[in-house]
Amino acid sequence: MDNPLLEAAAGGLPAFDSIRPEHVEPALEATLAANRAAIEQVLSNARAGKTGFETLILPLEEAGDRLHRMWSPVGHLHAVANTPALREAFNRCLPQLARYQTEVAQNVELYRLFEAVAGTVPATRTDGARRLLDHALRDFRLAGVALPDEQKQRFMEIMEALAGKQALFEQNLLDAMAAWSHHETDAARLAGLPGRMLERAAQAASAAGKAGWLFHLDQPTYVAVLTHAEDRGLRALLHRAWATRASDQTPSPAAVDNSLLMDEILALRHEAAALVGFANFAEYSLATKMASSVQEVRDFLERLVAASREAAGREFGELEGFAGHALEPWDMAFYSEKLRQRKFAIAEEELRPYFPLPRVLDGLFALVHRLYGLRLEADEAVAVWHPSARYFRVLDADGHQVGGLYTDFYTRPEKRSGAWMDDAISRKRLDGRLQLPVAHLVCNFAPPAAGRPSLLSHDEVLTLFHEMGHTLHHLLTRIDYPSVGGISGVPWDAVELPSQFMEGFAWEPEILAMISGHHESGEPLPAALVERLRASRVFQGGMQMLRQIEFALFDLRIHAEYAPGGDSRIMPLLAEVRKAVAVVPAAPYDRFPHGFSHIFGGGYAAGYYSYKWAEVLSADAYAAFEEEGVLNPAPAARFRHEILEVGGSRDIGEAFMAFRGRAPDIAALLRHSGITAAAGDTGNHAA
Ligand SMILES: [Zn+2]
Repeated sequence: MDNPLLEAAAGGLPAFDSIRPEHVEPALEATLAANRAAIEQVLSNARAGKTGFETLILPLEEAGDRLHRMWSPVGHLHAVANTPALREAFNRCLPQLARYQTEVAQNVELYRLFEAVAGTVPATRTDGARRLLDHALRDFRLAGVALPDEQKQRFMEIMEALAGKQALFEQNLLDAMAAWSHHETDAARLAGLPGRMLERAAQAASAAGKAGWLFHLDQPTYVAVLTHAEDRGLRALLHRAWATRASDQTPSPAAVDNSLLMDEILALRHEAAALVGFANFAEYSLATKMASSVQEVRDFLERLVAASREAAGREFGELEGFAGHALEPWDMAFYSEKLRQRKFAIAEEELRPYFPLPRVLDGLFALVHRLYGLRLEADEAVAVWHPSARYFRVLDADGHQVGGLYTDFYTRPEKRSGAWMDDAISRKRLDGRLQLPVAHLVCNFAPPAAGRPSLLSHDEVLTLFHEMGHTLHHLLTRIDYPSVGGISGVPWDAVELPSQFMEGFAWEPEILAMISGHHESGEPLPAALVERLRASRVFQGGMQMLRQIEFALFDLRIHAEYAPGGDSRIMPLLAEVRKAVAVVPAAPYDRFPHGFSHIFGGGYAAGYYSYKWAEVLSADAYAAFEEEGVLNPAPAARFRHEILEVGGSRDIGEAFMAFRGRAPDIAALLRHSGITAAAGDTGNHAA
């Protein structure tokens, strides 16, 4: 075999230093052919009367894992070491991959086979097999595989139409933004704006053959103007441009109005959900999530509103008092930033020297050792894709290896932005041989420069802890079936539990002492800075909470209350939600839904509540450590055993109960957000 991707598919760590773009397509073709043959073999065994989970399902797990091992290095290199040739090979492969996935999802005979096997595996089986079957059957049904032919045809049409309309929603938004610009010649109006942004605007003007400054409508520009521009009129101008994007309001061009498209998207989602047996799209969305019903989510969000409104009102009053006049929507960010500076006087640049990456990483590894007994050992012999990338063997307290970890910390032009954890290799024991899990932990920190290490902001420290939380979830799994091990099969509204949980540690004075050390003097973060940092954490916690809940309630209700044939009530419903939730004013021209990509562009439809849901879980899980001691190995052992080890094999509500001894409670999140919960207002949300 001279294709390193096919070698990776067969087992072992990928030879990252010898994978070439020309390996990608042949490897995928060979792997898909092998998988199609494996599926055919399983189906023919079933036709011949063979039965049982081990005989019929494990070969399919094996096939899924083979494809994952082959494709994972390609996806990874595409994200961190992109080249035009690789991108071209990658894009050529996507349709083949999609075709294969549809083929499997729509295979009725395969669905019947899973149904038959499911009938033979008892609900009491706890190794994940039962859950694997339940998830597979659920996903088959949600994809419409069991429908009569005519309805199935319609379901597929709807899915295709939805994909097109959601993409058009995004396109309209981009076109609306591209259509707007503001040419400014009066330097006095630019007071307060950051220098880097002004440079960009001056370059844009001169590129367009103009004097002065030219502003385009993009998020960094919008945020910078609303936060920093002293000129109230300039802030109002940008606010109107942003809040009316792709709507029926000026200055957005009428040709890119998303109004009708939103109605169509809601109608199609409702019809698809009804075809596969749900009362509305919100119920369809919740079928794969931890939350069990629309009512449960709505009660959950409304309980958070009730607990947060007073604090938010107080924060708004404080801000208005500070500004000295009534606040308009375009004043909020501006005065908030000024007030934040006044109260905490904390500048990111002041903190960075105390967080050199090597020191933070040593501290984080030490924390992971204290909590779980794990040790990370660098192995320089393992092939990587860039000189700064590294591989670590992860050893358990008894010295046995539990997995591996690749790290890639620094930003580069050929690397995607952001930070993430990715499943490089899944834990698997299908034929008695154990395959250890391996993770990618990727960030985009500034590289070391001029003889000093990479210096992190506290936000970046949080990011690193967050991704380490996902990493441990992936590496500490004890489940032998890849599709329900680690983060696989974990419901979307719970998958951020282990990651956000890990962030909690990066706020503790004793952990800050472990992970900080001035890059010149070695001095840990001074106590006064620790205090100010911790105080800044809860700034405007009530208002931020309500803003997220406003989005979440709107998203949930617009999908749950949709009535076919009627008006989709987008703006009236938003007004209703705002009246019940918001403490800050909204402009009459504001068309927030028309730019709400999270839900109308896809992904988060009837799922935006997941952010808050997972935050309640992670805050409450972390509170166990606050109660028992943040470096106490006892809650850590419980957390590892009940939550991290079970991956997606166990109902997450049950897992949480087992860890905490009770259902999740909103009290910890309210406390971490600086909101004082009223007595008796801390009921369980998942009871
Ligand atoms: Zn995350």
